[in-house]
Amino acid sequence: MVIGAGIAGLATATLLAREGHRVTLVERTGEVGGRAGSLAVDGFRWDTGPSWYLMPEAFDRFFAAVGTSTAEQLDLVRLDPSYRVYPEGADPVDVPAGREAAAALFDALEPGGGAALRRYLDSGRLAYTVAVRRFLYTTFSSPRPFLHRDVLGHVGLLLRLLLTPLDRWAAGFVRDRRLRQILTYNAVFLASRPSATPALYHLLSHADMDQGVFYPRGGFAAVVDALHGLARGAGVEILTDTEVTSVDVADGRVTGVTTSAGRIPAGTVVSSADLHHTETALLAPGQRTWPERRWRHRDPGPGAVVVMLGVRGRLPELAHHTLFFSRDWDADFREVFEGEGPDAWSRSVYVSRPSATDPTVAPAGHENLFVLVPVPADPATGHGDAYAAAESPAVGRIADAAVRLIARRTGVTDLAERTVVRRTLGPADFAERYHSWRGGALGLAHTLRQSAFLRGSNASRKVDGLYYSGATTLPGVGVPMCFISAENVLLRLRR
Ligand SMILES: Cc1cc2nc3c(=O)[nH]c(=O)nc-3n(C[C@H](O)[C@H](O)[C@H](O)COP(=O)(O)OP(=O)(O)OC[C@H]3O[C@@H](n4cnc5c(N)ncnc54)[C@H](O)[C@@H]3O)c2cc1C
Repeated sequence: MVIGAGIAGLATATLLAREGHRVTLVERTGEVGGRAGSLAVDGFRWDTGPSWYLMPEAFDRFFAAVGTSTAEQLDLVRLDPSYRVYPEGADPVDVPAGREAAAALFDALEPGGGAALRRYLDSGRLAYTVAVRRFLYTTFSSPRPFLHRDVLGHVGLLLRLLLTPLDRWAAGFVRDRRLRQILTYNAVFLASRPSATPALYHLLSHADMDQGVFYPRGGFAAVVDALHGLARGAGVEILTDTEVTSVDVADGRVTGVTTSAGRIPAGTVVSSADLHHTETALLAPGQRTWPERRWRHRDPGPGAVVVMLGVRGRLPELAHHTLFFSRDWDADFREVFEGEGPDAWSRSVYVSRPSATDPTVAPAGHENLFVLVPVPADPATGHGDAYAAAESPAVGRIADAAVRLIARRTGVTDLAERTVVRRTLGPADFAERYHSWRGGALGLAHTLRQSAFLRGSNASRKVDGLYYSGATTLPGVGVPMCFISAENVLLRLRR
């Protein structure tokens, strides 16, 4: 039995069912998809969570493992430009698809920038290859990944990449602030910040610049629909609107779960719900692998205020993906990771405009915008109005300020007036709807102490038969990682 029907729960349930297990998947909300949610209002349809389709190999591998292919399940478009950035105080820059086009851009912005980018991406590709082969599809239940010649052959470089922060690593290649920001913004995809993320993760630049940024037509809702169909096709029984209230244990072994609709006996339980929730709310104290005090020293990653806008008219000032960078974004990261109080927010924000690529997400003549504003992981910031009855004042203030920032930086000064629909989410929504720890949007930050085997384990150390998948366990945050975590549960069970 699997708890939680987000990406990881759907993927885990499908893999287990195809392996011959009888699988029940229990989800507390009325829908599947979890944080990869979908919201439709007045002809607009927003993805409420992921929008960047990266690491296509991970999707391909998962679909192949369940007897199909990405091409059968999804209609992918490669985006070009991959994204646009608005660096504060400078002109916007389009980052084109493909290594050579990006190298030409780097040359145009800094003498020698193209050659530096090629070297950066070469080492990013090496880090990516080693990570995928040795550190992602593994449960770390033996030291074997570390003893392989892929790792031993590059041990000096890998140690340097683990011990150097991403921002310092990138600064060793390019000096221009815009280029350093382009090479390191993706630390946020890891629920982290460039100064606290190991340089090993510059593999993400290989992902976005060499492998490319894709869009599945229909958005991530199409990915969730595909997973839902595959789970049903594999015979998974899916119970929505059903809350798991405890994992039941006898003599150190799991015996099933108790839910809002009764007890479900099971010899194996995989929780893909937030790990903190599973450990601290569904298990009795003596059954927890990680005691409450362990969480006091963990970094929950950022929270988010999400603003979904339906806008009249066209907005060519925005690409499909647009990033707004502050001149001093360290101050933004401090505000998010060390800030307190309901009005802390990052002035570096991200905007998705899927209507640039997909006419189905907005009525004719309108644009669909999704704005992600990083904020501290703190439910006290409050709710948005997408699911709750009313928007909390702080969420409203942050949403309005972010819209003003976008209007000012793009020159679309009437953005607020042209907005015909506006819905928001705040950290309290993440905490209450998905049981996410401290209302975090993504999961534990990928700092060195919270990466690979230091992040935890996908099997309970106290309860036999209890396993974990999803963004809050190994290997980590993001849709591709959720697929990998599902496969890693299968690895455990086969053993
Ligand atoms: C705003 C935002 C933007 C993002 N952008 C990207 C992106 O561009 N690209 C990318 O790859 N990733 C992105 N991510 C990350 C990605 O969406 C997540 O890593 C992934 O969706 C997490 O899936 P999951 O299955 O691990 O967890 P969840 O989606 O949280 O699923 C867990 C499920 O368990 C349910 N649950 C919890 N407790 C219980 C209980 N007691 N009983 C029953 N059910 C329960 C929850 O309701 C939920 O449905 C983004 C996330 C957010 C929030």
